[in-house]
Amino acid sequence: MKNLVLIGGGHAHAITLRLFGLDPLSCVCLTLITDVLSAPYSGMLPGHIAGFYTFDECHINLADLARFAQARLIVDEVIGLDLPKKQVLCKNHSPIAFDWLSINIGSKPDNTTILGGSEYVIPVKPVPQFLAYWNQFLDLLQSDQKVFFERPFRLGIIGGGAGGVELALNMQAKLHQLLSARGLSPSHIEIHLFHRQLNLLTGYPTFIGLRFRQLLIRRGINLHLGETVQQITVFSHHNSNLFEKLIRCESGLTVICNLIFLVTNASALPWLRESGLDTDNRGFILVDNTLQSVSHPGIFATGDIAEIVNYSRPKAGVFAVRQGKPLFENLRLIASGKTPRPFYPQKFYLALIGTGKLQALAAWGIYCIGPSFLLWYWKNWIDRQFMNQFAKLLEKDRKICDHRVD
Ligand SMILES: Cc1cc2nc3c(=O)[nH]c(=O)nc-3n(C[C@H](O)[C@H](O)[C@H](O)COP(=O)(O)OP(=O)(O)OC[C@H]3O[C@@H](n4cnc5c(N)ncnc54)[C@H](O)[C@@H]3O)c2cc1C
Repeated sequence: MKNLVLIGGGHAHAITLRLFGLDPLSCVCLTLITDVLSAPYSGMLPGHIAGFYTFDECHINLADLARFAQARLIVDEVIGLDLPKKQVLCKNHSPIAFDWLSINIGSKPDNTTILGGSEYVIPVKPVPQFLAYWNQFLDLLQSDQKVFFERPFRLGIIGGGAGGVELALNMQAKLHQLLSARGLSPSHIEIHLFHRQLNLLTGYPTFIGLRFRQLLIRRGINLHLGETVQQITVFSHHNSNLFEKLIRCESGLTVICNLIFLVTNASALPWLRESGLDTDNRGFILVDNTLQSVSHPGIFATGDIAEIVNYSRPKAGVFAVRQGKPLFENLRLIASGKTPRPFYPQKFYLALIGTGKLQALAAWGIYCIGPSFLLWYWKNWIDRQFMNQFAKLLEKDRKICDHRVD
């Protein structure tokens, strides 16, 4: 029997697994290797931060999904590939042989340019680690009044792309809820957002960045635009629970923050560069229109970790989602000895960005409307539809199979 191995439970693989469950491949052993059992859905993550969605509502249960797809599930972190031997190397598990491979492992914020960066900042990815810090912080705020009274508690967010802006607005919404529940003024919390460029949401038309700039200023978020964070050091131990850190920018600007989150440009996991697969200069896997590696046909890559030659697109979940079905179709074709078909990613896409207070802004091409409650309800409907396809995998559709969790 031939082996088809999927690495990572990203958005494209979630869709592929669901489709394999509905239309199983015969004579192929399907394996999913994932380092988590609950895969976060990026569209609802900021809403989870604001408290609009529970953990389960915005996470895909990969164990259920693997069972549905009749896939062997291996919970482990992939640390490399042995391409000559056609093996996946894991942190704990013995090497896993493959005939065809598909990689959908996302990306992580780039922290390479910040001195002391990795030590004092909380990257927004991996998401489980980020959520653990966030929840720990919320617990502390709820249990220790002192945190608010010594001086305003300062949160720093590095990166003013769509993710950073959405995170700032949703974190602020949650923190204001907490303060108001205790009868405290919103002035006890300050949010500082640092962005290298002069306009927010780089990559979007200038007008959209300006629209968000107005909104953030209106909401009292401190913007530091055109500021490149260079160094972060511990400033004082004044606060008993959370050290104060000094953010130093290239311009000489310094800001003291208690907690600092990193939402900078997507960067690739380092082991890919050593894997032997062709990558671009940022380390993302170069794939052609069939989603196969340009250097190693039979190895597919999708989502943030893939860079489609001649069709570069932003690193956004919406593209990973769109690649799910063509990936499934091409894996079926290659496993049946047929030629995979080309896929052309769309140029424009609808970005619905939640602004925290049950409102959203919509951006499409050069157009932007909102924020409005109506757009939030639309976004909420789209996101819930997406999650429902996994949550409502009907019992009768589930194949009772010899399912193993290694
Ligand atoms: C705050 C924030 C908000 C965002 N909001 C949006 C939004 O509203 N809309 C949008 O389109 N995009 C949004 N994005 C971008 C979006 O998060 C990414 O583009 C998207 O998650 C990429 O999907 P993916 O399928 O490539 O990978 P991911 O969704 O990141 O999934 C990768 C999976 O692989 C697993 N994995 C990673 N490494 C390994 C390994 N070595 N071994 C095994 N498993 C591994 C991970 O645990 C994870 O489950 C947002 C990003 C941020 C930071």
